[in-house]
Amino acid sequence: MALLEEPIKEIKTLRNFIGGEWIESKGEIVDVVNPATCQAIARVPISTKDEIEAAVEAAQEAFPDWRTTTPLARSRCLFRLKELLEENFEEVSRIQTQEHGKTIDESRGETRRGIENVEVACGIPTLMQGYFSEDIATGIDEWVIPTPLGVFGIIGPFNFPFMIPLWSAPYAVATGNCVIIKPSSEVPLSQTRLAELADEAGFPPGVWNLVHGGRTVVNGMLDHPGIEGIVFVGSTPTAKDVIYPRCGATGKRVIAQGGAKNFMVIMPDCKVKRTIPALMTSFFGNAGQRCLSGANLVIVGEDDRFYNSFMNGVTDTASKIIVGYGLDESVQMGPVRDTEKKERIIGYIESGIQQGAKLRLDGRADIKIVGNYPDTCFLGPTILENVAPDTKCGSEEIFGPVMSVMRAKNLDEAIEMCNANSFGNAHAIFTSSGQYAREFQYRVTSGNVGINIGVVAPMAFFPFSGMKDSFFGILHTQGQEAVRFFTESKVVIQRWL
Ligand code: NAD
Repeated sequence: MALLEEPIKEIKTLRNFIGGEWIESKGEIVDVVNPATCQAIARVPISTKDEIEAAVEAAQEAFPDWRTTTPLARSRCLFRLKELLEENFEEVSRIQTQEHGKTIDESRGETRRGIENVEVACGIPTLMQGYFSEDIATGIDEWVIPTPLGVFGIIGPFNFPFMIPLWSAPYAVATGNCVIIKPSSEVPLSQTRLAELADEAGFPPGVWNLVHGGRTVVNGMLDHPGIEGIVFVGSTPTAKDVIYPRCGATGKRVIAQGGAKNFMVIMPDCKVKRTIPALMTSFFGNAGQRCLSGANLVIVGEDDRFYNSFMNGVTDTASKIIVGYGLDESVQMGPVRDTEKKERIIGYIESGIQQGAKLRLDGRADIKIVGNYPDTCFLGPTILENVAPDTKCGSEEIFGPVMSVMRAKNLDEAIEMCNANSFGNAHAIFTSSGQYAREFQYRVTSGNVGINIGVVAPMAFFPFSGMKDSFFGILHTQGQEAVRFFTESKVVIQRWL
């Protein structure tokens, strides 16, 4: 099929959006490369400490007026942003495919999920209502007012460049705060377009800011006394060793969502015809670069006939996945984000083989790319059998299109395998039994639990949770919990004289 038109046609140097102005950075400039074509599509600045200082100053300046803007008026800006996102839906989605490599349908799904968060935040006049008790003692009333705090930093990962900052930014601004978004410098283009649309939607200067860059910008946010809190989504080492402790040390509130190693548990009574397609999306969707991706496939029971026929079905379907440039609508899996990530994934495949796993499908070799693209960042679906859960490959986050298969005697053993892993993001069970499903969701230590669902992605009006090494904090992104995160409960008690 023919390629869809690329929205990014000329290489521009991106600018920061600070206090309502597009400002050139004085920082080092690096290329943004499309992983399918291996061509540069933009240049992004690695902004300096002074530039993050300037963004905080602009946001602090905007806060008093924005805080006193009524929730209804604030929600009107969000309604307008939603309209603009709908009008530019296809362009925004294609930018994500160009910068990240995911298929156009995956990008459209990502755009939709982002917009849904804007829609939910439009309900802020009711979402941020306080509560009231009359006569807590005779003639004395007490009430709570949810109050915005000021400036928040929002730090994004590379794998969902557009959607992830929208898990929090709409709620932050709806509640009367100002934001500084720092996207991953690997994929800065869709956030740049979003900031343009936020500007067009009528947010006053300084309410919605964008600063490109890396660690200097993150460190600048973490150290700045003018930033009240941080929302971080990324890997566990950064969440656990950098973001969470440093927010604690400087008294900032924090949401720090980390990595994952998700187990998909297959009971012999599952509906095979529905389960296999769900597993394909789970393990190989977004080229396996999703915190909700399946990583370990656990087949329960000692029936070899079931195991063999199930694995034949899985392997056969995986081997037919069409790999290529995501702007070709026939493509089902794009490249991984860059060569470094590809090498890291290959390292895991090799370590799995060295530690006793059997290669059933080799994405390094058995790969046919549709179209004429260099194979630099492409990797086909890979299946490793006989993986032990305590090996590198069975226990660590690979973040690529690799399925590690293991067997468990019974459900108890499968649940023990899930719970022995240090992560707790999104485990799932495939079964027809209500009893197995209840047992699994009750006992498994995971923030998201799937029952016959391979990608457990909470809707915008539910929290995006995680447990153990997948999450550091108390409140979560999205919906009501985000509203609570971005507000302080002010308690007032009044005696009627
Ligand atoms: P990452 O931790 O490398 O980077 C995330 C952000 O932190 C980027 O903006 C980066 O510039 C910044 N950063 C990286 N190292 C830093 C450091 N030492 N000091 C300060 N800032 C630093 O993560 P990534 O590779 O971009 O994203 C992939 C990871 O994100 C995976 O582990 C994935 O599971 C996780 N993820 C989690 C969720 C979730 O909801 N739990 C969602 C999406 C992705």
